[in-house]
Amino acid sequence: AKQEGRNTYRFHTQALSDAASQRLQLETRLRRALADGEFVLHYQLLIDAQTEAPIGVEALVRWQPPAEAMVPPAAFIPLAEETGLIVPLGEWVLQHACQQGRAWIDAGLPAMIIAVNLSVRQFQSGNLVDLVRRVLADSGFPADRLELELTEGMLMEDAEQTVVTLKALKDLGIRLSIDDFGTGYSSLAYLKRFPIDKLKIDQSFVRGLYDDLNDREITATIIAMSRILKLDVLAEGVETEQQLAFLRDSGCDYYQGYLFHKPEAAADVAKRLAETRRS
Ligand code: C2E
Ligand code: CA
Ligand code: CA
Ligand code: CA
Repeated sequence: AKQEGRNTYRFHTQALSDAASQRLQLETRLRRALADGEFVLHYQLLIDAQTEAPIGVEALVRWQPPAEAMVPPAAFIPLAEETGLIVPLGEWVLQHACQQGRAWIDAGLPAMIIAVNLSVRQFQSGNLVDLVRRVLADSGFPADRLELELTEGMLMEDAEQTVVTLKALKDLGIRLSIDDFGTGYSSLAYLKRFPIDKLKIDQSFVRGLYDDLNDREITATIIAMSRILKLDVLAEGVETEQQLAFLRDSGCDYYQGYLFHKPEAAADVAKRLAETRRS
């Protein structure tokens, strides 16, 4: 029995160290990918409910290793967050998105809002406000077109410092939204206290709009609450006409989802925006 126990132990440490070395390998590859410029941004159009025209895009990062399949963010963002690599990666995303936005304006396309995801680590990094100020200045992208997507988790921690940071960001003239709204712990008090412009209803609620009474009530409540608090409200992950009909009846301001557009490379988005301008 003793012998067997030792084997089991050895087996477990082996399995553990395999997992650890795989993580280390991935971390090393991610660092190199950032240095070698292997990340790309795709952009998903955000749709105005009244006109069904695009009002902006959300920038979504992908990893494109040479001669391999594109890697989705779920496969590397969690590790990038754990290791802190999300801070330089997030900086790259912000710079790149604002440069792209400027290039679209220079090409004569309608000025879009560009929404960029922030991670908790970036939010807590202490120099976020300076970074955003510098990126806006360097890129020449208009501040009032940049929207940073926060999560409820960021807004819970250390409320005093959070208010200071959010006010400093708002003073730059940018817009702030809460991503994946409804999955965390926001309270009405927080929403009133923080200078937020928009709520993005999490796609898990939108998914159930057709047949789940709870999801319908939660979604309708978030939309009604947004109206009272004078916030914009967007529904994420809109995939079907039934979901759209419910959202329309509930008075949702903006939509995002495969029913309208999937995230696409910058060149494809530019073509769509050029068509919008013509029509
Ligand atoms: P998210 O911010 O909630 O982004 C929306 C995700 O939903 C995107 O997945 C998008 O492709 C997907 N989506 C859009 N419409 C639909 C739809 O109709 N149906 C379904 N099923 N999905 C839809 P993606 O691009 O794989 O990104 C996943 C997550 O990775 C994002 O979720 C965000 O949390 C994170 N992420 C992406 N880019 C960045 C980034 O630059 N920085 C940070 N910190 N996180 C990022
Ligand atoms: Ca987002
Ligand atoms: Ca989201
Ligand atoms: Ca999400």
